[in-house]
Order: sequence, then structure tokens, then C-alpha cells
Amino acid sequence: MITIIGAGLGGLTLARVLQKNGAQVQIYELESSPSARSQGGTLDLHAESGQFALQQAGLFEEFAKLARPEGEDWRFLDQRGEVLFEEISSAELKEGEGRPEIDRKLLRGLLIDSLKPGTISWGRKINSVHSLGDSRHVLDFTDGESEIVEMLVGADGSWSKVRRLLSAAVPEYSGLSFIELRLSNIDERNPELSTLVGRGSLSVNAPGKGISAQRNGDGSVRVYLAFRVAESWIQGCGIDFHDAAAARRALAGFFEGWDSQLLELILRSDGDVTPRPIYALPIGHSWQATAGVTLLGDAAHLMSPFAGEGANLAMQDGAELALALLAQPEDANAAVASYETAMFPRAEAAAAESAANLKLFYNDEAPYSIISKFQNPSTTVA
Ligand SMILES: Cc1cc2nc3c(=O)[nH]c(=O)nc-3n(C[C@H](O)[C@H](O)[C@H](O)COP(=O)(O)OP(=O)(O)OC[C@H]3O[C@@H](n4cnc5c(N)ncnc54)[C@H](O)[C@@H]3O)c2cc1C
Repeated sequence: MITIIGAGLGGLTLARVLQKNGAQVQIYELESSPSARSQGGTLDLHAESGQFALQQAGLFEEFAKLARPEGEDWRFLDQRGEVLFEEISSAELKEGEGRPEIDRKLLRGLLIDSLKPGTISWGRKINSVHSLGDSRHVLDFTDGESEIVEMLVGADGSWSKVRRLLSAAVPEYSGLSFIELRLSNIDERNPELSTLVGRGSLSVNAPGKGISAQRNGDGSVRVYLAFRVAESWIQGCGIDFHDAAAARRALAGFFEGWDSQLLELILRSDGDVTPRPIYALPIGHSWQATAGVTLLGDAAHLMSPFAGEGANLAMQDGAELALALLAQPEDANAAVASYETAMFPRAEAAAAESAANLKLFYNDEAPYSIISKFQNPSTTVA
């Protein structure tokens, strides 16, 4: 039996590939149900990672029905709203190519629905985990129950409890905070803003701040305001994020003088105003192979979203770990060691790219720093 903590994209992919091939698997998830929390915006799935994982899961055809290849469009504007650089994608999905978009909610639902009933225990939060000194571990749940498990996989995200068994590393603040906004039903409510955003995403980058917007498949647009600020800024900036209308006005003030349509992306948003400080584990985070336990996804290699790799890698980790375990059913620890040996350098490269891109997006040369990277992908940053 493989015990997985966390029903995020990584843990679900691991469970699906294992179960599809006859292995026993159990997931414990703190959320009370699949719909307990909004799953956030849209993701683009890369051929070698997210799409590869779905192929291993036998779910690529279902994914193709839900994916939006045209969502790959990406437009960089300057503060006056002039287009600086634009990538237009094909509306046709070709397996193993491109980076088609899919709403997170749909992708997670696809994976959840692919599992046998009862595979996920919802509303089971792990409070702590400790080793029994051999390859077994004890899970202590917040409801007071405990369980001894043989092979444990921490797929429990950024603030993983399982990670403490393997490493003393903790996520560090990246220097950047997002504020997330949402425009629902944009075609009807704000058709001119719908045209501005187009089929995919737009980015407006400046030294220390920016606005980006991405179309979702549910008719909404997510807007992310980025601020290069201290970790304490969200608490100390004087904005009451619970008072959404006042928060929108205050946030628009940081972009005074920018094109009026860009400001409308903030002012006409509806719903919550959600701060999201961005954290990352140290680049190259790794640990000594330890019997009976491993990590995947953000628990193993949390990184900023600026390479668009976090969810893709989580899914690839899930698929690769499952394949390793299936290939060596008689020696799970050897399987885990081979998975970790391949995963560490893959994650290190993506984490380094994410950190470098974060600088390019908001450094003092922005937006030209990031545009030149798109025009010349070999550009590096000091
Ligand atoms: C603003 C933003 C934009 C992003 N954009 C992209 C993008 O475009 N492309 C991309 O590839 N990645 C992107 N990412 C990164 C991506 O969201 C993550 O890397 C990905 O979700 C990680 O998946 P995971 O399965 O490892 O962890 P998670 O999705 O965090 O799942 C962990 C699960 O574990 C559960 N859990 C946690 N603790 C416990 C506990 N104690 N007990 C039981 N269950 C627990 C959680 O409830 C959750 O369901 C973005 C991230 C952010 C913040």
C-alpha cells in the first residue's frame, strides 16, 4: 500500500498511475470535499511533464476535450496599453506539442473522477508524522487518530508536514507578492476588457510591479497584481483586503498614470481580493534517501510561478514515481531512490529558471528584460 498525503495535482497523478496498474493506494486530504476550496486559475501543460503525466494516467483524450490550446496566446503591453510583443497560438491541440491551457478545477476533477471510490479520504488533515526507526511512519491526524504506514509520499504542498522527516528546509519569501482579482462572466459584463485580454494572457511589467490577466475556461478572467515588496507589506500596507471595493481603489492607485483599460481590470473586478505572497524552497533542495518516505511536487521543490513549471513538475513527479514503484514492486526503497535521483536535477533546473524569470519580469529594465528573453530564449540574468 502506498499512502499519499495531499490530493493536489501531484498526489492525484501518482495515485491514478499506480491504481491504473493494479497497485494499492490511499490518499489523505485535509479539504472536506473536492469543491471545498476554489482551485485557482488556468494552467498550461507542457509536453514533457504535464502532458506526459496525463498520457501515463491514460487521461490524455479526456484532457484534450477540456483543454484550450488557444489559451496559449500571450501579449505583453506597455503601461500605455500598446502591444510590445505577442505570441499567437494555434487553436488545434496536437498531442505532445504546445502548451494547451486547462482550468485547474477541471484538471483536478478529471484526476479525482478517475480514481476508485474511497481512494481519497477527505477531511483528514495530518498534524504530524514521525518515524518508527525502520521504514514505517506514524501519521497523527488532527482528529486524534493515528495510523502506521509502510510507504509514505508527501504530496502535501508548500508547507508540507512530511518534508520535516527528510529536510530542515523551509520556504523563503521570494520578494514578490501577488494580489489576485477576478472578473466573472467577462464577455457579457465587460466586453471591452474581454477584447483586451484576448484568448489567453496579457502581461504589463514595470520595475517592481505589474499587472497580468489570464482568461479561464469558465468565462472569467483572473488578474494578478505583482508587487516587489517586503514580506510584511501585505499586513503593513494599510489596505483592508476584506473590504474588496476599497482595496480595489487603493490597489489601482499603485498604477496611476497607466492606461485606463488596465486600471479597469482592477476596478471592475468582482469577488474577493486575495493576497498571495510568493515563497520558494532553496534552489537545489534535496535530501538523503530515507527508507519508507519521499516527497513530490511543491513539497519537494516549491518555486515561484515564473517558469510555469510547478504543477507540471508535480504531475511529472507523480507519474515518474509511480512508474518507478511499478517497475520495482519488490524494492520500493530502490524505486524511490531512482525517482529522487532523476527528480532532483530536473527540479533544480526549473527552480533556477523560475527565480531568474522573476527578476526579469520586475527588474529595473522591465518590461524589456523579459521581452528580450522571449525574443532570445538564451538570455540570462545576473
Ligand atoms: C499564483 C500562482 C500561479 C501558478 N501558475 C502556475 C502555472 O501556470 N503552471 C504551473 O505549472 N504551476 C503554476 N503554479 C504552481 C502550482 O500551483 C503548484 O506547483 C502545484 O499546484 C503543486 O501541486 P502539488 O500537488 O505539489 O501541491 P498542491 O496543489 O498544493 O496540493 C497539496 C495538497 O495537499 C493538501 N494538504 C496540505 N497539507 C496537508 C495536511 N497536513 N494533511 C492533508 N492534506 C494536506 C492540500 O489541501 C492540497 O490539496 C502557480 C502557483 C501560484 C501560487
